[in-house]
Amino acid sequence: MKTIHHLIDGESVASTSGRTTPVFNPATGEQTGEVGLATIEEVDRAVASAKAAFETWHTFSVAKRTKLMFNWRNLVVDNADEIAARLTAEHGKVLSDSGGEVARAIENIEYACGLAEHLKGRYSEQASTGVDVYSVRRPLGVVAGITPFNFPAMVPVWMMPNAIACGNTFVLKPSERDPSAPRFIVELFQEAGFPPGVLNMVNGDKVAVDRLLEHPDVKALSFVGSTPIAKYVYQTGTSHGKRIQALGGAKNHMVVLPDADIDLAADSAVSAAYGSAGERCMAISVAVAVGDVADPLVDAIKVRMEKLTIGPGTDSSSEMGPLITREHRDKVAGYIEAGADAGATVVVDGRDARFDGDGFFLGVSLLDNVTADMTVYTDEIFGPVLSVVRVDTYQEAAELIAANQWGNGAAIFTRDGGAARRFQEDADAGMIGINVPIPVPVGYHSFGGWKDSAFGDTTIYGPEGIHFYTRPKVLTSRWPDPAGSTVNLGFPTNQ
Ligand code: NAD
Repeated sequence: MKTIHHLIDGESVASTSGRTTPVFNPATGEQTGEVGLATIEEVDRAVASAKAAFETWHTFSVAKRTKLMFNWRNLVVDNADEIAARLTAEHGKVLSDSGGEVARAIENIEYACGLAEHLKGRYSEQASTGVDVYSVRRPLGVVAGITPFNFPAMVPVWMMPNAIACGNTFVLKPSERDPSAPRFIVELFQEAGFPPGVLNMVNGDKVAVDRLLEHPDVKALSFVGSTPIAKYVYQTGTSHGKRIQALGGAKNHMVVLPDADIDLAADSAVSAAYGSAGERCMAISVAVAVGDVADPLVDAIKVRMEKLTIGPGTDSSSEMGPLITREHRDKVAGYIEAGADAGATVVVDGRDARFDGDGFFLGVSLLDNVTADMTVYTDEIFGPVLSVVRVDTYQEAAELIAANQWGNGAAIFTRDGGAARRFQEDADAGMIGINVPIPVPVGYHSFGGWKDSAFGDTTIYGPEGIHFYTRPKVLTSRWPDPAGSTVNLGFPTNQ
């Protein structure tokens, strides 16, 4: 059984805490490794390494930094299959999903490779007579990232490339449940030729997170995870004077209007609700069926669910893998019971599916006639459960989304351009899809929700990422007219 260590100052460092947490292969239920959880001293060591590295790293020329970023990007591309294999081994998602995750991660490194353009600054010549003004964005120092289990490769890469390209140094605290993929990406970073200490990784739990939140040398922290922890991280970090962006949970709605292409809507609902076993912060968990679209939509989704192949992520015929842990699988299953007890119609019950072995599998579930007071609607389930809420009008659908605690993504399926345009105005969420169920922005835009899906004023990656990891410096200069200079410049007055 392997032990996953920290990586500090370019070296593998074993935890001395004596506290460990298991890593499983969710497809078999077997424990495949353990993670040594960091002590406060180990976190301090990582921050000290990053602080020392900052002194030189931020002085590296744009050209040198760009070259190193490209080296890293190329190593990640060359090792994409190995990263994907590690994702599937510890998270459980099917290999095609893992490959997609790595591709989205690479997109973020590629964006950061454009640092010369991102950091170019602005210049105003002759703002007043003889006075020029220019603004540049400078790095902050040591910044940290705390990431969730569900995208163990991609989410750290939402943060690290932009932060480091801007001249900061970084401490990553990934999810303790599946740390092998991020660990490998950090190793590739070292192999790319960056100086030791520019990127460090510590494994840990609340002890490590709390230390990063209070450490005086950590200037900013990016968090992605569940809403209660995001809120805690935001409040604690800002009370220690840090810049914080904290992305939380979600309950994403997909509105289907009566004129929608039913096949497209049903295909989208199935892939967006059950892909990656519903463990995506942009998963669709509520289909809002408007008017008489409800019956045909539910039928079309049910037909597709029956054809889904659920099995180990390493099996190329599998379309959905297991959940992350046995406890989480059982919690998700509990919501089906709770929905039925509250009066929802269980159209497909995932608990009926049978699987060989001890993997953390659960079948896919579809609940109809869900109402806004049921826990299956009010809670983030984070599993393969799709609820259908029936409403009479578009207006009711928009009001439902507006009243929801979360506002990560929202989608509409319609053939009506006017309705779609109206929805992009009305939808009370940060990322909107028009006939697109999972509108995750490309790496050159930025990602983030509204309401309890994000705390802090800056969303993650893309242009907002560059903004988050830098602070402005504005320089105003005045030079007298060279005609008055004592140096002989060849002007008539000073000859
Ligand atoms: P989580 O909140 O349990 O853990 C996230 C991170 O916080 C981990 O690194 C974990 O070690 C740490 N953590 C856990 N408990 C802590 C505590 N008490 N104090 C301090 N730190 C703590 O989330 P998860 O289960 O790993 O991931 C799933 C959640 O993440 C879902 O709610 C999902 O919606 C959300 N998520 C959101 C986004 C987004 O962009 N908004 C993206 C991915 C996942």
